[in-house]
Amino acid sequence: MPSEETDVAVPAVRRHELQLTPSGSLRRLLGTSHKIKLGEGVKVLGAVMYLEPHKGAGPTVCPYATPGCSSQCITTTGRMVYNTHRRARVAKTLLFRSFRADFMAQLRGEVSFHVVKAAAQGMTPTIRLNGTSDLAFWRWEQEWRDPAVQGLRMVEYTKRPATSQMLAAIDRGWSFTFSWSESAAALARSLTWAQHGVNTAVVVAGSLGSKRSVDKAVAAALVQRGSLMGRGTLDGDKHDARFLDPQIGGWVVLKAKGDAHNDRTGFVVRFDEDLLLGTDLPADQCLWHGDEPMPVPPTPRSPSGAAKEMT
Ligand code: SF4
Repeated sequence: MPSEETDVAVPAVRRHELQLTPSGSLRRLLGTSHKIKLGEGVKVLGAVMYLEPHKGAGPTVCPYATPGCSSQCITTTGRMVYNTHRRARVAKTLLFRSFRADFMAQLRGEVSFHVVKAAAQGMTPTIRLNGTSDLAFWRWEQEWRDPAVQGLRMVEYTKRPATSQMLAAIDRGWSFTFSWSESAAALARSLTWAQHGVNTAVVVAGSLGSKRSVDKAVAAALVQRGSLMGRGTLDGDKHDARFLDPQIGGWVVLKAKGDAHNDRTGFVVRFDEDLLLGTDLPADQCLWHGDEPMPVPPTPRSPSGAAKEMT
C-alpha cells in the first residue's frame, strides 16, 4: 500500500500566503475547464479542483501514480502548463497539507455555493475534487460537505483498487471511473471495478510518430465500434459528467492530449491506425506494438481472482 496522504510534515508556511492570490483575493479551490463546461450542454454544472499532481508539492497526492501517468498528467496540457496555474495548484496543495481545517472549511463553503448556483440555473451540480490528484475525499466527506447539501454528484477518476469504502460511496452518489495505466495491476483492478459496473478510462492514440489528428480518429473509431476486448466503449471526450455514463464495466475512451501523444511508457494504449481505420478487424487485433517492446493490455479471460484487492 503506498503511503497515505495526510498528516505529513511540511515546511511551515503562512496561511494567508497560500489562501490569497498575488492581488489579495481569496484563491478559490474549485474551478472549471473546457471539458467541465461541456457538461452544461446536458444540464450539468460542474466544478473541479486542481492540486499539484503526484509529488509536485511534497508527498504524493497520487498514491497509485505510475511513471507513465505522472509524466503525462493533464498538467502537461493547455493552460495547465503556465507557471501561474502551477503556483495556484501548489498553494492549494500546501494549504491542504498544512492548514487542513482551513482548507476543508473553505471547500465546504465553495461546495455549498456551487450547489445553490446549480439549482438556480436548473442544473445538476457535480464536483470533481481530484482533478489532478487521487485523494480519498469520500473518507472525509463530513469535513467538507454540509449535511444540508442535496443532489450533489461527485465525479472522480481514480487509479485506486476498489475498496468497500469506495463502493459504499457510490451508494451515496459518488461516481468513479477507474483510470488505466501501464501498471501491471491495472487489468486486475479494472476487472474488479467492472464487476461493480464501474468503467475504465483509457487514453488511446495511433502509432508512435503518427499525427495528433490520428489520435482523434482512433478514439472516434473505438467508440464507433462499440467494443474493445469484449467490453463496451464510451466517448469520454464529449464532456466530463461521467456519472451519466451507463455503468457497464466498459471503456471510457479518451484521445491522447499534451505530452501523452508522445508516450513511450505504455500508459497510452496505441493502435495501428491503418488496421483500425482501414479494416473491420476487432479493435484488440489492431493494437500497435511498434518496433520496441511496449506493455499492452492482455485480453481478459475472467474477472475471477481480481477481487483479491478488495478490502
Ligand atoms: S494522471 Fe492522475 S494519478 Fe497520474 S499524476 Fe496525474 S492526477 Fe496523479
